[in-house]
Amino acid sequence: MSVDELTGQVERARLDYEALVAKGLKLDLTRGKPSPKQLDAANGVLELSGDPVSADGTDLRNYGGLNGLPEVRAIFAEDLQVPVEQLLAAGNSSLELMHDAIVYALLGKVPGAERRWADVEGLAFLCPVPGYDRHFGICERYGIKMIPVPMTAEGPDMDVVERLVAEDAAIKGIWCVPKYSNPDGTVYSDETVRRLAAMQTAAPDFRIFWDNAYAVHHLTDSPAQLADVLALCAENGNPDRVFVFGSSSKITFAGAGVAFFGSSPANIEWWLSHTVKRSIGPDKINQLRHVQFLRDAEGLRAHMRTLAALIRPKFDAVDKILTAELGGTGLASWTAPAGGYFVSLQVPEGCAREVVAKAKAAGIAITPAGATHPYGDDPTDQVIRIAPTYPELPEVEAAITGLATCVRLVASEKLLADQAG
Ligand code: PMP
Repeated sequence: MSVDELTGQVERARLDYEALVAKGLKLDLTRGKPSPKQLDAANGVLELSGDPVSADGTDLRNYGGLNGLPEVRAIFAEDLQVPVEQLLAAGNSSLELMHDAIVYALLGKVPGAERRWADVEGLAFLCPVPGYDRHFGICERYGIKMIPVPMTAEGPDMDVVERLVAEDAAIKGIWCVPKYSNPDGTVYSDETVRRLAAMQTAAPDFRIFWDNAYAVHHLTDSPAQLADVLALCAENGNPDRVFVFGSSSKITFAGAGVAFFGSSPANIEWWLSHTVKRSIGPDKINQLRHVQFLRDAEGLRAHMRTLAALIRPKFDAVDKILTAELGGTGLASWTAPAGGYFVSLQVPEGCAREVVAKAKAAGIAITPAGATHPYGDDPTDQVIRIAPTYPELPEVEAAITGLATCVRLVASEKLLADQAG
């Protein structure tokens, strides 16, 4: 684009931005939360019919059953790709389980470990970026060094991962959101999963934190298939390598669902040796209500289709508006995920923070730029996470149109400054 053309573009963007600010919007695209309509669709989970007993006759009103209700584990086992006897149903949050897994590994040796992670000098985790800020928050809280690894269209860059884990025994784990990743919507390829399961690690106690939060959250009619990481780890002689996490937070109620932990028999035994000290058993009544509401794996999938019908139009709107406003301008690129909860918007280097600040000043709250990277630091300041599920469709449309205006303004001003300078 010539300087004149760019100048014209900047002037138009400034006028559009002024008009946007004048609208006095108050919109929020910050967190990936289910919308009230999605929650309404799950209201059946509040109902409990019949006697609160399990299939084997256990009175679920009482203490016990640390492994969780077998019936709810059976519903999720298939989609989480964990044999039911190796899948535990716990409390209401998988993030809590990930946090606890780190704490247990810091304070008590994981199977195969020579020492507790708390005693490892330079303890580090690999963090595929962009990634999920709350994973990074756990590492930051416990002083675990975070090493960013770039994401590719097939998952983390496995050449980088294999090299790093082979040479440094202090690297004890990797965060993975393998299906419809947060925020890119990437699905790990079979080859990526195979390489993660088979790679040589200097640490004998290396763990993959497999956060399959979006295992059943498809937006299309052709669900993505993920290779079976637990089976592949076992086949490759690394049976204890993976911790699988999942939850029904974005299936039934966020904060009042059921969380799951799955792993090898040795890891399950290790896990239970810690949780038995922590709890006399989970909320089995909530688990029973989930069983009655979802019924079985097919019922779960049918419910997810209902939810997808509610949020798909929002994702479609994001793509349509970004294409109309920014397509072909070279000012941005974005993902069009086939599932999950997020769209990742990529702007020119050095622009993301400014775009988010401009949007905020116009009343559009966006997840802080940098949140997708360890320590909140996106070194090229390019990634913006869009969470379109919570607001109603007209609000999503208004927010994305406004956000596109901010991108046009900041990115074209930057291009003009670069050309001038
Ligand atoms: N993992 C990922 C990748 C997520 O995006 C989220 C929610 N935003 C969570 C975990 C949180 O799950 P839970 O509600 O089960 O703690």
